[in-house]
Amino acid sequence: MNTADQSLVKKLNKALILKQIISNAPISRAAISEMTGLNKSTVSSQVSSLLEKDIIFEIGQGQSSGGRRPVMLKFNQKAGYTIGVDIGTNYIIVVLTDLDGEIIVHVEEELDEEDIQVTEHTLIKLVDLAIQKMPHSPYGLVGIGVCVPGLVDNMQNIIFTPNKPIHHLKLKHLLEKKFNVPIFIENEANAGAIGEKEYGDAGNLEHAIFVSINTGIGLGILINGKLYRGKLGFAGEAGHMSIDLNGPRCRCGNKGCWELYASEKSVFSPYLTEEDMPLPQKVTELAQNGDKNIFEAFETFGFYIGIGLVNMMKTLNPDTIILRNTIVESHPLIVDTIKKTISSRMKKEALTDYHLKISSLGRIASSLGVSYIVIEHFLKQLMDEQF
Ligand SMILES: [Zn+2]
Repeated sequence: MNTADQSLVKKLNKALILKQIISNAPISRAAISEMTGLNKSTVSSQVSSLLEKDIIFEIGQGQSSGGRRPVMLKFNQKAGYTIGVDIGTNYIIVVLTDLDGEIIVHVEEELDEEDIQVTEHTLIKLVDLAIQKMPHSPYGLVGIGVCVPGLVDNMQNIIFTPNKPIHHLKLKHLLEKKFNVPIFIENEANAGAIGEKEYGDAGNLEHAIFVSINTGIGLGILINGKLYRGKLGFAGEAGHMSIDLNGPRCRCGNKGCWELYASEKSVFSPYLTEEDMPLPQKVTELAQNGDKNIFEAFETFGFYIGIGLVNMMKTLNPDTIILRNTIVESHPLIVDTIKKTISSRMKKEALTDYHLKISSLGRIASSLGVSYIVIEHFLKQLMDEQF
């Protein structure tokens, strides 16, 4: 084996060992050797390297199968921190997490729909706030991930955000300059799918779609457990598939787009008032007061969501559909209407074993997803370093 090959093998072994420690900690060197098939001296030397990097640590002593009790190893999830940002049409959510996705700080703010300067100012303010509250650690802030509702290409350029001109902000450049850490940009629904896969409780997401419904609708598609991005990174723009060929013109250029019917705004805008109250809160208040019209609106919402999902199910045959929408999360009866709509338009045989679930992470699914992207990148970089 030449030197380059040897160095690659070392990197791969180290990454494999770290993965075992992250998933199975506390774990002994002997157990790692057994689980990975790597010999004990390889495990021992790579573990020393990981200990030197402060990314793992030794704790007490584990169960012994006779003889000396082994020292156990744990992932040092507090070795560094990440920031995940979700810039929505009318909100910004910022979370600071450790390297295991545990949330240390969560701040958010409602925003004006169009004003992009306010968006930039609020973004910087909230990220600064999270950094101020970051505990001391060996690696500090290892990166910032940001997601936006719109087209993000494979090079992390924001191409177009139909419901708010976030694409006018040179976000990656702006944040790199200001915070001097790696910046990652992702589509909001893709980030949500990653968040649910890594931190949600929807189980083993092999063939799943994450459906994010806010001002618009976006999809994060997992195929064989991996995010499907398409050629340029634009896959999952299902909110802009036509469900009415003669429907109204959409900002995306198409007509009768799904999100013109099934978004919060389209169904519940008659309930928007001048009062300073977010729409989901207003909807809940009306439902609590027994407003008949709002229950009819729930039916309409569920019906239109179901119509689009039928198309997606026929296209992708997912095992699990995860719905992310604040109104559905607060009023799960909408799920019954969605299910009814789906079963009325699909063959029974095609419906066996599909799961329609409400997002377990809720509003923070996407910000956690971009945090995970940062963590994955940081750990990969760390494994690539020579020692
Ligand atoms: Zn459209």
